[in-house]
Amino acid sequence: MSETGGDEAASVKNYFDTTGFERWNKIYGETEDVNKVQLDIRNGHQQTVDKVLDWVKDDDMSGVTVCDAGCGTGSLAIPLALKGATVSASDISSSMVGEAERRYNELVSKGASAPATAPKFEAMGLEDASGRYDLVTCIDVMIHYPKDRVDGMINHLASLSGKKLIISFAPQTLAYLILKRVGELFPGPSKATRAYLHDEADVEAALQAAGFRVKRREMTATSFYYSRLLECERI
Ligand code: SAM
Repeated sequence: MSETGGDEAASVKNYFDTTGFERWNKIYGETEDVNKVQLDIRNGHQQTVDKVLDWVKDDDMSGVTVCDAGCGTGSLAIPLALKGATVSASDISSSMVGEAERRYNELVSKGASAPATAPKFEAMGLEDASGRYDLVTCIDVMIHYPKDRVDGMINHLASLSGKKLIISFAPQTLAYLILKRVGELFPGPSKATRAYLHDEADVEAALQAAGFRVKRREMTATSFYYSRLLECERI
């Protein structure tokens, strides 16, 4: 793993390859064995994914190149591929990206129409992603990035995008700060990684410095899920 971030990135990778995989695979699935909090997060996250899909619903995605960095179990990468996009999906966790590939293959074997170019699923940290794409997406990954790594992350994602960048992050709002504080008072077994909140102005400044401006923004807030979604275009 040649990415920067050292121990922090290694512990995120380890978490999502082990207990985190079990937890998030369930949350990002359809089974009923989730508790109330997990169900709330599942619904909130699906709203974020649906907002991205709504932004591209009128676009002809055939052959549009997409890099989904930190793809998880493929919640966004798979529908984009099934819309015809040429998708490169990657994740630092081989368990998560392996599950994304499995889910994609299962859908196609059940009759979903495959794109002209099959999606590529790769286990790698986003700093190792390379190439140039029409669209770069990175949904709910920044929560694993401490403040001092965010500018570099945004800069790298921007360098991969020829046109559009869609990113989301947990915003540093008062309500979420309080929620996080309460969560820290009652650490449960699921709290195996640290969660980093980000100031929207800082994120926007990093995007601007990397040559992107925000075109559209959305906020999804449920009881336990908070995510600011930005669609950015090259200046
Ligand atoms: N983007 C997916 C989605 O919205 O369904 C997954 C979101 S999940 C909360 C965060 C994902 O980011 C995990 O799958 C984790 O392994 C991945 N991740 C964390 N740090 C990463 C990094 N440095 N490079 C690539 N993936 C990373």
